[in-house]
Amino acid sequence: MSSATEPAPGRPAGTGVDDEPWSDFRRHLLEDGILLTTGVDGIYGRSATYESVVGAVDALAVAAGADLGATNLRFPPVMPWATFEKNGYLESFPDQMGSVHSFRGNGRDHAELLRRTESHEDRGPLLETTDIVLCPAACHALYPTQAGVLPEGGKRFEIYGYCFRHEPSTDPFRMQSFRMHEFVYLGTPAGARAHRDEWTDRGLAVLRGLGLEVEPVVANDPFFGRPGRMLAANQRSEELKFELVAPVFAARRPTAIASSNRHVDHFSRPFGITTADGELAHTACFGFGVDRITLALLDRYGTDPNVWPVAVRSVLWP
Ligand code: ZN
Repeated sequence: MSSATEPAPGRPAGTGVDDEPWSDFRRHLLEDGILLTTGVDGIYGRSATYESVVGAVDALAVAAGADLGATNLRFPPVMPWATFEKNGYLESFPDQMGSVHSFRGNGRDHAELLRRTESHEDRGPLLETTDIVLCPAACHALYPTQAGVLPEGGKRFEIYGYCFRHEPSTDPFRMQSFRMHEFVYLGTPAGARAHRDEWTDRGLAVLRGLGLEVEPVVANDPFFGRPGRMLAANQRSEELKFELVAPVFAARRPTAIASSNRHVDHFSRPFGITTADGELAHTACFGFGVDRITLALLDRYGTDPNVWPVAVRSVLWP
């Protein structure tokens, strides 16, 4: 590895990172072929080794909730604008969204699109938004499907899927496209609180079982702009969000690898979800950050899972 002042010739785009807390970890991931750079920060190809850990972590997540009778659902990594424009994401996180565009022009527009592409000019004016956006969180596609009255005791769902956040970074823990395995509750306010607390405990047990030094901390989302600062303060004071945080890199930087969230009526109000007694439902979700947990294990034990401690291997691959 060359020094910071001497970039290596021919090194792939996006790998020239020498003095960040994650530099060594990132270099190992790339040199050992665990992740493959694509030229865009935060977008990676994944090796079979990486995916074998993802699969094992995910199986643990599933086992942790197997007794709850949650309904298993999967959604694509894109969702309708019609859902997105109601769920508050555009107000709170406009800078992290991903909109899907396509081309609807005529032959002349097409020629201009190709010309601009070849000369690396802005293609934006020739592309139009479609009626879909990238899913920012796995659970967001669920709520519009649950409009109406919930049964007594509420409902539980298990949802696994790709999420997108536009926050390009060379930090491997800050992927733009990543997976979350979520356990979601819809029901009463007391039920939502209980779900949040119960899953914080279950999540801690799963992650500590892997030898990760994880702790729950009250957290807030990076809401956009000045109104966002109030939302963030409220989220903290109401303890709506807990993150399960593990130390990573030599610097032991605290990094969230799972989170437990209470949404109050944030999703039930726009989508018309009520409890059996006619009140607006409360919702809560716990998300295992499957990619981040995988990265935390690779950071702690090295990039060859074959030589990880037997105690960890036997939990992941019983
Ligand atoms: Zn969620």
